Amino acid sequence: MTLRLFNTLSGQLDELVPSDGKALRMYACGPTVYDYGHIGNFRTFLQIDVLRRFLKLTGVPLRHVMNITDVDDKIIRNAAERGLAIGEYTKQYVAAFFEDLDSLRVERPEVIARATEHIPRMVELVEKLAAVGAAYKVDDGSWYFRLSAFPEYGKLSKKDLSGIEDGARVDVDEYEKDSARDFALWKAAKPGETSWETPIGRGRPGWHIECSAMAMEYLGESFDLHTGGEDLMFPHHENEIAQSESVTHKTFARHWMHVRFLLVDGRKMSKSEGNFYTLRDLLLKGYRASAIRMALISVPYRHQLNFTFEGLTEATNAIERLRTFHQRLMSVTVSSGKNVGAGGCSPLQELAEKAQADYMAALANDLNTAEARAPIFELIRAANTAMDRGEFCAGDRDAILKALASFDAVFDVIENRDGEPTQRALAWAEQSGRMADVAPELRASASISDDEINALVAERDVAKKRRDFARADQIRKQLAEQGVIIEDSKEGARWKRK
Ligand SMILES: [Zn+2]
Repeated sequence: MTLRLFNTLSGQLDELVPSDGKALRMYACGPTVYDYGHIGNFRTFLQIDVLRRFLKLTGVPLRHVMNITDVDDKIIRNAAERGLAIGEYTKQYVAAFFEDLDSLRVERPEVIARATEHIPRMVELVEKLAAVGAAYKVDDGSWYFRLSAFPEYGKLSKKDLSGIEDGARVDVDEYEKDSARDFALWKAAKPGETSWETPIGRGRPGWHIECSAMAMEYLGESFDLHTGGEDLMFPHHENEIAQSESVTHKTFARHWMHVRFLLVDGRKMSKSEGNFYTLRDLLLKGYRASAIRMALISVPYRHQLNFTFEGLTEATNAIERLRTFHQRLMSVTVSSGKNVGAGGCSPLQELAEKAQADYMAALANDLNTAEARAPIFELIRAANTAMDRGEFCAGDRDAILKALASFDAVFDVIENRDGEPTQRALAWAEQSGRMADVAPELRASASISDDEINALVAERDVAKKRRDFARADQIRKQLAEQGVIIEDSKEGARWKRK
């Protein structure tokens, strides 16, 4: 099965296969580590995770490179304000970023490349650009890319850049102008700023050159796929293409995938609107990491996702349905042979095979996660009905487990691993003076450890055996107040946190 993925460069769905017949070489723009990641950032990383996991599920080996931008204007400014070296300043945000990825169960790329560890490669690229007349130095010692040296500029974003003003320059890392300008490749050192002594002068790299240099370092001059958020298409990705192709005269990346922005309650997320959320904000409100993952991946990457709290609740319920079903599937008694149960066997095996095929086909069609979910949930409905009627037969379980395994290879929400991210977020809130932001239910639930719950549940079992129902009830109530629910079953009492 081959993935057909929309390619921004060609403007159509193209098959995504490793061009060297071995591994798919892909580059994903990583975070600039000056703050905690917000859910818009994580939507992009999660959708790239969907891509990664689906490629692996279809047997495509990967070489996925992601950069960490650990030097830029904002980092230098913020570090200076706090009187820290940039490495000291970014350390906490690099750690937080990977902790957040772990909470969301985003797989790590094969290569993680930090900008500050690749300065010589960037300098070499500027030298090569100067040699072909595509880079020039200005009076203060900074280097700029000469846009007029690359007539194809704009081919990715399809912008009409006919009004390019020759020699007009921009020296900041980010700009959102429709008119393109010569952009900084290398910024001369200003007094007190972090800088490197190099053959092209003392200074530091511009943001765009980092990605060109590191992508080519690990993936070669021409590779299969480049991904990032839609906000990076122009000018960042356009600039990466210009810098790389001016030197190599080869197609930098054949395929470009851009993940769309999300809205929050129908509006652009911003701090001033009061609808700006980091992952940690949501965990402290009591939402589970798995629900956040599910909500952020369930809308396909090319569609705008309108993030709402109702959407998070829907994701929470969907996961609950999956987990409850999985437990039931593992504990249900099946009769061996055909035609057992009241009305004989339901056609569940065929249904499971069809659900799995439909699921794979939906993902192979431009990673349509919404369409992929549907047949799995239909299968769950059908299987529950068959179990209720005693029509669940031997062989059904294996076929359904196979479909669920394919589902979870990408969605990864069935096994309950939500405790750790929440506990980590609580520890972080405590350290950083944010306990006031913790939802009251979560605070109550955090006040009791797993060991304490186990002890109380055991005590309740003993009380029940002694027929001391008053004490058993009292324990149940106490746990409920702390957000712990007890479920009695034939195998004994089980508990879970709300
Ligand atoms: Zn980049």
